[in-house]
Amino acid sequence: IQGQVRGQRAETQTLMKHTASSRSFNQEDHEDESKVKNPRSDSKPPLTLPVAPPLYDAPFPFYRRPAEMGRFSLDAKRCFHGDARQMRYYVPPPAEGPSPGFDLRDGYRDRYVQRDDSVREGLDHLLQWIVENRKQLQTEDKGKLLNADFVTWRGHLTKVLTTPYESREGWLLAVTLFRGTLYISEFETEAARREREQRSEMLKELTYMGYKFEQYMCADTPDGIPDPTGVVNTNEAFCTVIRSRLGSHSLLFSGEVDCTDPRSPSPQPPSCYVELKTSKVMHSPAQRRSFYRHKIIKWWAQSFLPGVSRIVAGYRGPDGSVVGLETFETMKIFKLIRDDRGCWKPAVCMNFCAAFLAFLKTVVTEDNPKLVHLFAWNPGHPVSYTVHQDSQYRFLPDWYVEALSAEKSPTS
Ligand code: GDP
Ligand code: MG
Repeated sequence: IQGQVRGQRAETQTLMKHTASSRSFNQEDHEDESKVKNPRSDSKPPLTLPVAPPLYDAPFPFYRRPAEMGRFSLDAKRCFHGDARQMRYYVPPPAEGPSPGFDLRDGYRDRYVQRDDSVREGLDHLLQWIVENRKQLQTEDKGKLLNADFVTWRGHLTKVLTTPYESREGWLLAVTLFRGTLYISEFETEAARREREQRSEMLKELTYMGYKFEQYMCADTPDGIPDPTGVVNTNEAFCTVIRSRLGSHSLLFSGEVDCTDPRSPSPQPPSCYVELKTSKVMHSPAQRRSFYRHKIIKWWAQSFLPGVSRIVAGYRGPDGSVVGLETFETMKIFKLIRDDRGCWKPAVCMNFCAAFLAFLKTVVTEDNPKLVHLFAWNPGHPVSYTVHQDSQYRFLPDWYVEALSAEKSPTS
């Protein structure tokens, strides 16, 4: 018991330290700001960035506690609204009794409206939010309009974080420097496009089941109850806009949030948000180890970045029913894996991300909304890039460039 009390006290102290400073968001006590050194002999920027985990196996870098700057919603027709109208509320099933009895296949044929995922949205919705909120984002910093080194989607950063451990899927990230801020927008790889176009019926149904689980677990109002008879429409989204800092890099990014817990012990956003996931039920320690090694890394990265403190997993049985639920506290996931040599490390993910952002800063130095540096990565290779002027890769829309060009920077 003493050990437990001591453990709890240590945790409380760590939490208090975080609250008091409201700065560091590190999982362990490391507040080391040291960065992974990228040895360079001359002053020319490097052409590639290596990704091997041992290169980034250093103390956990500084990551500022993520703060919510704003919210927006996408409605059933995928139209933007600068408010939280699509927010949903977490309603867990009664703790007592056997499995919750969710049928994740229900409605797949007749109550499913799918977002058209061949439409390339780029950063547009986030940029729309920025235009509408540009006054609160301005900075004193000369040569810079927005108070952020980087603007991107959370999902793009998740891919960067997991890169040192990814062995299957590569990525393409387009980067443009505009008025002092680097914008990062993903382009679909050829391989990903082929996969999307040839997705099997089984994979499509699995995707649906993930959304259906959300419907079983969420209500439209804080005191409401879930309505599993309704339509699942994947155009609908609620997104949070987050500010944070990784090492010396200030970040402004947005991510889709599944729901908020109105009864959360930490009632402020983003920590009251809950990420919902589904996964195949596990039967053996070997299956659980594999889940920790290959799957939970993505869950951790996605929720850690915006400071979403809980992930609720619904375990699927072979018939598509949910046979169990498990809650993961994002900040405790590192404890589940730290004793497994050969497992991923949070610090490697974060140090690699910091090195990648530093790499972008050294390579992309010309401020030009029509210029794109396309960073490409494939498993087994380092990150490399190509340069494109006024090409198909251009992603900052004219309406955005015009809206921000009209904006006078406070120092100019
Ligand atoms: P995630 O972390 O990968 O879920 O991505 P984000 O939360 O960063 O999502 C950013 C935006 O992309 C939101 O508007 C989402 O609705 C949208 N989005 C998320 N996943 C997908 C996807 O698989 N395809 C497309 N086209 N958009 C997506
Ligand atoms: Mg989810």
